[in-house]
Amino acid sequence: MPPLLPRVRFAPSPTGYFHVGSARTALFNWLVARQTGGTFVLRIEDTDAERNREEWVDGILTALHWLGMDADEGPYRQSLRMDRYHEAIDALWDAGLLFACGCTHDEVTARNKEAGILTPGYDGHCRTLALPRGEGRALRFRTPDEGVTIVPDVIRGDVEFPCTAMDDFVAVKGSGAPLFVLANVVDDIDMAITHIIRGEDLLPTTPRCILMWEALASIGWTTDGTVGELGAPTPGMPVFAHLPMLVNEARKKLSKRKDPVAVESYRDEGYLAEAFVNYLGLLGWSPPNDEAEVFSAAQMIEWFALDDVNNSPAFFDVAKLRHMNGEYIRAMHTADFIDACRPWLTGDSVPWPEGGFDEEVFVAMAPVLQERVAVLSEVPAMVDFLFLDTPEFDPESWAKAMAGDEAAGAILDAAIGAYGSLANDWTSASLHAATLAVAEGAGRKLGKAQAPIRIAVTGRRVGPPLFEALEVLGSERTLGRLRSAAALLAAGGTPSE
Ligand code: GLU
Ligand code: ZN
Repeated sequence: MPPLLPRVRFAPSPTGYFHVGSARTALFNWLVARQTGGTFVLRIEDTDAERNREEWVDGILTALHWLGMDADEGPYRQSLRMDRYHEAIDALWDAGLLFACGCTHDEVTARNKEAGILTPGYDGHCRTLALPRGEGRALRFRTPDEGVTIVPDVIRGDVEFPCTAMDDFVAVKGSGAPLFVLANVVDDIDMAITHIIRGEDLLPTTPRCILMWEALASIGWTTDGTVGELGAPTPGMPVFAHLPMLVNEARKKLSKRKDPVAVESYRDEGYLAEAFVNYLGLLGWSPPNDEAEVFSAAQMIEWFALDDVNNSPAFFDVAKLRHMNGEYIRAMHTADFIDACRPWLTGDSVPWPEGGFDEEVFVAMAPVLQERVAVLSEVPAMVDFLFLDTPEFDPESWAKAMAGDEAAGAILDAAIGAYGSLANDWTSASLHAATLAVAEGAGRKLGKAQAPIRIAVTGRRVGPPLFEALEVLGSERTLGRLRSAAALLAAGGTPSE
């Protein structure tokens, strides 16, 4: 038989936006498939009809595509495999590996309390009652009373779970619906999965999965068709790797509510897929030569090793991701940068009126923008002054550096005078020199003298490099704006009036 090529799977539940932790899990699976010539399977674990939504499924597919990690196989849908789970349930039942239980949660708790047992969990009450199936009874999996279940984990070594700490868990709900462990393991067997690479949050569930796997193997359900024996090493048991959890600045597990965890929002903010994938690769792993932090997916495929993954929590550092994205933007060919900006320059949300956009002007401005922005969504606010008839004044900027600066009027007047004589030499270099002279005259550092000029022309205190911006805007519009702002300021007006 030829050696088995790895078959890995990414098995998200479509219960919300695509989480950065899921994206990292998908990436590490994808890397293993790509570096071995194996297969990357996508399985949608959508058995929970109440929490699943079709739009989240679309979100998963779109995000994977955006990240360049389309699946080789699938998406399989658990919701379409119910018949198969019921086959497995019947087989396990017939082999005596499940038992029916009609106890309610409250009944179990009350019995535990009476017996002085503080650890919650099922007390085994119905194990020997041989209750028939049906009548709304759940089916529990009979777990061993003693010994340990070992999870051999590539990242963490052997993790031992004493069987005494594991109760007879519910595998099938009273309604007949299979629960996570059953569907998950049946699928991993049917899909001949060789490596289970998933988040650390699932580690406590893995001993149950292993017991389920062994039980199914003992009745002939194996990836390679061989029949194992209960308790004996199971043929075809996959390799496990539980990836370290992602934490925030406070070293707390990333919270869906408080932390920015939706991959979609990064895409919409103008992160580049390549930068995002690069950053994901650093969450729990680093390349062997260690100093390289910026690397391509191709390099990652070459360098990645599952057993080099770390077992301590990984800090999801948005500031670092942002910085890395800026580096990727600066490394682009300007033509590619211009193309990448396109989605942010069109559509309903652009700040300039229809027809206001001027391609040539944008292209002239692009090189300095590329030096400045960290994410592409910052681009419109950097160029809107070029495409608006009059700049959109930011009230706070005006209050601070115009109305709130007694020298602002004099600086504007001096700039009008100095720039007025530049008409035939309207370049960023001569504008720079002229502004230096204005600053000197006002007894200011260049940076401080720029503020009123920048606000008069762009509407804001922050923006693109000023002299390049003025050059692209042209002498006529620049002088016109300086004059209007100077007049407004002299009249004591504020831009909102
Ligand atoms: N569907 C599970 C989840 O989204 C993951 C299952 C697995 O990877 O085994 O948490
Ligand atoms: Zn019971």
